[in-house]
Amino acid sequence: MVVSAMPMVAEPSVEFDAQMVRKLSQSGPRYTSYPTADRFSEDFGYRDYLQAVAGMRTRGSRNPLSLYVHIPFCENICYYCACNKIITKNRDKAATYLSYLKHEIEMQGRLFDGMNQVEQLHLGGGTPTYISDAQMADLMTHLQRWFRFADDETGEYSIEVDPRTVSAERVVSLRKQGFNRLSLGVQDFDTVVQRAVNRLQPETMTLDIIRAAREAHYRSISIDLIYGLPGQNVISMAQTLNKVIRAEPDRISLYNYAHLPHVFKPQRRIDVQELPSAEARLDMLALAIRRLTDAGYVYIGMDHFALPDDDLAIAQQQGRLHRNFQGYSTHAESDMVACGVSAISSVASTYSQNVKTLEEYYDAIDKNELPIVRGIRLNMDDVLRRLIIQRLMCNFELSIASIETAYPITFGDYFESELENLRRLERDGLVIIDDEWITVTIKGRLLIRNICMVFDRHLQNALLQQTQPQRYSSTI
Ligand code: SF4
Repeated sequence: MVVSAMPMVAEPSVEFDAQMVRKLSQSGPRYTSYPTADRFSEDFGYRDYLQAVAGMRTRGSRNPLSLYVHIPFCENICYYCACNKIITKNRDKAATYLSYLKHEIEMQGRLFDGMNQVEQLHLGGGTPTYISDAQMADLMTHLQRWFRFADDETGEYSIEVDPRTVSAERVVSLRKQGFNRLSLGVQDFDTVVQRAVNRLQPETMTLDIIRAAREAHYRSISIDLIYGLPGQNVISMAQTLNKVIRAEPDRISLYNYAHLPHVFKPQRRIDVQELPSAEARLDMLALAIRRLTDAGYVYIGMDHFALPDDDLAIAQQQGRLHRNFQGYSTHAESDMVACGVSAISSVASTYSQNVKTLEEYYDAIDKNELPIVRGIRLNMDDVLRRLIIQRLMCNFELSIASIETAYPITFGDYFESELENLRRLERDGLVIIDDEWITVTIKGRLLIRNICMVFDRHLQNALLQQTQPQRYSSTI
């Protein structure tokens, strides 16, 4: 089966080729970072991070900042969950966490004092809206005290919202507190599926929040969906897609459920008998691509779709799209400062990750230290490959000349074995390689992870040595 989807623009933005997907589907990274987080090492710590920021200051770095704040709490467990979260109904835990989080924000704020302004903020979790309206107001005031924020027009300030935890009034309040983008967790509107994953969320509840967000003039509303969940089938997926399209969110993320119960404990409560077959999953994916692009959504890449007038679609057309830990972004050259348990910062040529448990987090901050437990300093090869993977993921093409201008290499010599591997994908019709460009075809777009994996030196080494653990999700 081959489905070519035609959005409102003249060119199709993606093509689904079931035979090719079947042939090439394998586990692989999502490349929210390169090197991927499983390559971080405990040899990199707090002092290395300080050194990286000091280097930025010496160089007079003018990159805008992107802030990420992690709120790990949720009231109830969703069985498919792969996030770093803490299930609790004890609100005192959140109050304690927030007092430590504010201390960490202050430490980071002092480090970046006088450097560039924040153009992006994202609150993720867990459930950021687990904390009360008053706690959120206090947190936002604190962030604005320690960082200089761009105005509402320039900045992209987003929050993940669980519709089960907010009212229409809260949505208005969040807008006043400074958020201009909402990302709503839906996954599926079907009650059978919702019951199977322990996330009962009436459709009217979600639609009421979308209506309230529109009235409060949020710039963008995004909906998260998952395919491959227990109880899902093509018919239920078609009904959910109809409802989503009627709701007209600006962006839609459609994730492939990765059943990895040995890595994510809550998934052990999912009945594997209820999981759709591999064939049914492919049918659901084909259907979703066709329905969404027929409805005018543009395929951005990986799991993301956006309306043509959304900033993401415009940024992609203009070659300004970027990819970071929150997925695709319109703010290219930002340094990311991340606060909260397990959060990952990306400053200069380093990545650094915070500790994962509350105990370790509180211990480090009590010592007046940033709670960084591991990370990596990129060498030139890493930086080069990161750029290549970024360009391919965001623009679906790579100018070989631009790489040779920026780096002291001859592309064909430096990437001789990679080009050889890429030629195999060229024979499958996924890429076109010539002397000046590597271009991902519309058939290759859906398999972009496979294409990027060719340039992932760490992964290729691990595959050669057969030391690659089974921890990535399926590429499709
Ligand atoms: S999916 Fe989201 S709301 Fe559900 S348990 Fe995980 S983090 Fe919490």
